[in-house]
Amino acid sequence: MMTTVIALAIAQSLSSSEANALSYLREEEKLAFDVYTELGTFWNLRIFKNIARAEAKHMSSVQQLLIEFKIPDPITNPKAGEFNDIELQKMYKSLIKQGRVSEIEALKVGAYIEDKDIFDIRKASLETKNEKIRMTYKTLLQGSENHMRAFYKQLKNRNVTYKPKFITEEELSKIVTSN
Ligand code: MN
Ligand code: MN
Repeated sequence: MMTTVIALAIAQSLSSSEANALSYLREEEKLAFDVYTELGTFWNLRIFKNIARAEAKHMSSVQQLLIEFKIPDPITNPKAGEFNDIELQKMYKSLIKQGRVSEIEALKVGAYIEDKDIFDIRKASLETKNEKIRMTYKTLLQGSENHMRAFYKQLKNRNVTYKPKFITEEELSKIVTSN
C-alpha cells in the first residue's frame, strides 16, 4: 500500500504539460540523432557522427525520466526516421531531403535542429519546477548550445551565416560568442 501511495505522489507531481514536454523532447532528441546519423553517412562528415553520439545520450537521459515518472515512451518504433509525432515525422522527411542537397544545406539542417531544440528545451525548463527534470534539461541545453556553436562555425567557414528561426538573433549571438 505504501508503494502505491508513493507511486501516486510521483505521478501526481507532474502536470500533463510537464509530461507532454518530456515525451515530445524524447522524440525530438531522436529526430536529431536520426538526421545526424543519416547525413553523417551521406556526406561522410565527422561533425554529424560526433554530435549523433551526444544525441543518443540525450535520448537515454529523457528515457530515464519517462521511466521514473511512468510516462509512456513515444518511441514505439526505434527504426530511423519513424516518429509518433506527425510534425516530427514531416520534419524528418523534409530535413533529410534538404540535407542531401549539399554539405552547406546539411550544416544548415544541423543549425536548424539545434535552434529548435534550444527554444523547446528552454521553454520546457521554464514550465517545470521539478529539480531533477530541470537538471536533465540543463544538460540537454548545454549540449544543444555546443552543437549550435559547431554547426555555426562550420557554416561560417563556408561563408554562410545561419539565421535563427526559433530563438532570437540576440540569443544566437550570445551562444556563438561564448564557450
Ligand atoms: Mn540533443
Ligand atoms: Mn544537439
